[in-house]
Parts: sequence; C-alpha cells; structure tokens
Amino acid sequence: YLFSITVIRGIERDLSGVVLLLKDITRLKQVEQLKSDFVMAASHELRTPLTSLGMSVDLLLEHASHNLAEKDRELLLAAHEEVHRMKSLVSDLLDLSKIEAGRIEMEFEDVPVATFFEHMQSVFKSQMELKEVAFVSGIQGDLPLVRADANKIAWVLSNLVSNALRYVNRGGCVALMAQQFGAHVHLSVKDDGLGIPEEYQARIFHKFVQVKGQEAGGSGLGLAICKEIVRAHGGTIWVESVPGRGSTFTFTLPVVGAGNLMT
Ligand code: ADP
Repeated sequence: YLFSITVIRGIERDLSGVVLLLKDITRLKQVEQLKSDFVMAASHELRTPLTSLGMSVDLLLEHASHNLAEKDRELLLAAHEEVHRMKSLVSDLLDLSKIEAGRIEMEFEDVPVATFFEHMQSVFKSQMELKEVAFVSGIQGDLPLVRADANKIAWVLSNLVSNALRYVNRGGCVALMAQQFGAHVHLSVKDDGLGIPEEYQARIFHKFVQVKGQEAGGSGLGLAICKEIVRAHGGTIWVESVPGRGSTFTFTLPVVGAGNLMT
C-alpha cells in the first residue's frame, strides 16, 4: 500500500481533521513484475541467436569479403555494425531488467576512488588522444575508501566517460573529479561539449530517452543502468548542464564505515 497523511487545520490553526489516503498498488507491482520478466526472458532468448549471427557475419567478413563486389562488401559491413549494435542493446536490456528485478548480485568491497580514475585513464587515454581531448583527473583532499561493487562502478564511469568523449568537441576537455561531502563521496565526469537542453536533464536517466538530434547511435539505456547501479549503492545521480557549454554528471557513493551519518 502507498499511503499519505494530510493534516487539515482551521483558521485558528486548530486541528480540524486528518485525511488518510491508502492506495492499493499490488496490481501496479504485478504489472511491473510481468513487464520486467518479459523483457528479461526476451533479451535472454535473443542473445544466443544474435551471438551466432554476429559470429557468422564476422567470419564472412574475415574470410570471404575479398571475393565480394564492393557493393556487397558494404552491405556485409553494414550488417556487421547492426548486429553488434543489437547485441549491445540486448545485453543492456538484460542487465537493466536484472538490476530492476533485484536479481543482480552486488559484490561490495572497500575501494579507493583513485583506482577507478586510474582505470578510466588507462582505458580511455588513447581514444581521448585520437580526438585531441585533454583527459584530466582531480581528487580534492584525502578521500576515505568508498563501499562499492568495483566492477559495476567501473561500468558506470565507463558509460559516463564514453558519453563525454562522444559529445565533447575535438580539442576539448573531459575531467574526472571526486570530493567528500559528509558520509558520501561525489564523483563527477565533466565535459565542455554539446550540453543537454534543460527540459531533458531530469528525463535523461529514464529508459530510451535521448536528446533529439543528439542520439549518436546509442540505445538510450546507458544512463538508466547507471541510475539503477548507483541506487543499489544507496547513492544518487544527476546532471548539471548548459547547452553549448558542456555537462557534468555526478553520482554519490557511501564512505566506508560512515553508518547513517547525514550528508
Ligand atoms: P546512449 O548514449 O546509448 O544514447 P545514454 O542513456 O547513455 O544512452 O544517454 C542518453 C542520451 O543522453 C544520449 O543519447 C545523449 O542525447 C544524452 N547525453 C548523455 N551524455 C551526454 C553528454 N555528456 N553530453 C551531451 N549529451 C549527453
């Protein structure tokens, strides 16, 4: 049951009544569950044929493409790209539905934030150089360890950094930043690129939402997965952005041993 209580006061601010609203959300929950089970089953079933399709196309490209006419080779290349895009969409959908259903195992450990940043530097360094983007990291003060599933947080950061790389201008800058605020560490990925219009800033974390004209080929699931992973850590994620000036995505992680201190 979802419930809310409203206190009604008279002119003299004396108590004149209380409204208690109860809403049965069992049915809503059942529908959500069905939806999530269906998406999970469908994406699971699609994964196997897509993998073999992808392998066949890859093999054809490797072994037979030199015998093909230019036009046929182009068709095969297009099929190759689409199959791989679909594979990543299906795998994102599966991950998201598992997380939403609470069926993903979290493996928490105590991690220094610096290791996340070093990992991102090594993964993205060459791609940043190719686009002549300055890729910098900065940690404010002595940070405590954070309680996190290291692989999943690396996934969140990779997703934010690859988005930043996609939307930053050639010669621009992408920065990783971390700072402690009470019982949480705030981790940010900042770019000075295209930016996100204000009307999209809250919705961008919903499934399949992409800024019109700024889709760049993705699936619109990355940020929704980031949000679920951060939520599973007891954190929050948000974006601050000025169109034409850039975007900063920030998420929070709990400090080790902070108990229920408030930020
Ligand atoms: P995808 O990247 O697969 O489209 P995401 O959920 O990661 O999915 O991102 C959703 C949309 O948010 C993107 O399509 C893009 O329009 C917008 N977006 C995300 N990150 C940035 C960024 N750093 N700068 C500008 N737009 C962004």
